[in-house]
Amino acid sequence: MDLADTPRVAAIIVAAGSSSRLAGDVPKVYRRTGGKMVLEQALEPFLQHPNISSVLVVANPQHAHLYKELHEQGMWFCAGGKTRQESVYAGLDALADNPPDWVLVHDAARPLVSREVIDRVLAALATHAAAIPCTPVKDTIKQASPQGTVGATLPRGDLRAAQTPQGFHYAALLAAHMAAKGNEYTDDAAIMEAAGVPVAIVEGCEQNQKLTTLADWQRMQPASSMRVGNGFDVHRLIANAQRPLMICGVEVPSDLALEGHSDADVGLHALTDALLGALGEGDIGEHFPPSDDRWRNADSSLFVREAMRLARERGAAVSNADMTIIAESPKLSPFKAAMRARVAELLGVASSQVNVKATTTEGLGFTGRKEGIAAQASVLLMCKNECD
Ligand code: MG
Repeated sequence: MDLADTPRVAAIIVAAGSSSRLAGDVPKVYRRTGGKMVLEQALEPFLQHPNISSVLVVANPQHAHLYKELHEQGMWFCAGGKTRQESVYAGLDALADNPPDWVLVHDAARPLVSREVIDRVLAALATHAAAIPCTPVKDTIKQASPQGTVGATLPRGDLRAAQTPQGFHYAALLAAHMAAKGNEYTDDAAIMEAAGVPVAIVEGCEQNQKLTTLADWQRMQPASSMRVGNGFDVHRLIANAQRPLMICGVEVPSDLALEGHSDADVGLHALTDALLGALGEGDIGEHFPPSDDRWRNADSSLFVREAMRLARERGAAVSNADMTIIAESPKLSPFKAAMRARVAELLGVASSQVNVKATTTEGLGFTGRKEGIAAQASVLLMCKNECD
């Protein structure tokens, strides 16, 4: 093929969708992972591809403030429609003045497409007017009946999950889209199928997944930062308390108990403060004021769970926690394993990620005089979105 025969290829990146299934105010394609917007990552392999001469983003004009910077850098944008189908058509229409031979249509929510997948689609377009990357289906797929039971089990060997970029001969896709108006299709291949055009299947890739849920988003994040926090707490030991002695969520048999507004679990308080500290979220007193009657005799695991909820909300996960309980008596070594297991359970990690130590102060100071028990905790959080 000499240069004159080389097909001109354009890519349409569809970014007009809303992202109702992903929490947060910013639509998913404008969220950042590793310092780059999902959209920028999705664009990169197309902008860098030597055979693709133009790249057009179909976006929602209401998001203009989010893509302003890319637009100012020279990226080409056009306004999308109410549905994906209308948005792709808007893109095809925007290319019509200087029509390419071939067009690739790609979802901006698939930022991890590889150069190889693009190459395979383009290679198939030499012999087909339509080509799509697919992956085998791993789950057995059931067709549900209106009664909520299984209507049929589809033969898995024949099933494929369709990905993008989907590639087409431009004129054929434009004609199929015009003919499809009024009917709704979920992808462009289906529009070609409806027009009777055979669609070639090429191998997709596992990582070219569509970012849909918050879990998908969190999986995608590079572990870009670590945050450390420490906590320290002391409670007074009292006799005749009408409560058990609780340390790290474990009841320790004793004549004495710790005094406090909640259950006075000195270990879980230090741990909560370590988590809040790592998150830059102040301290336990700000979140659970002793003046609030809700926390009277409260199980302190509530505080750890709330701190963990804040951590998860920010895509942070516990790498490890290390704790020291400082007490002259009772002897804590028989309870360390149970404490470790309970703390791991509250943090949602394996026991191997938690360490609980116990020490005395050799009879010195208030702990040495058995007037109180102190606890220290350190935690390391792995943050996937810089915890901001
Ligand atoms: Mg406390």
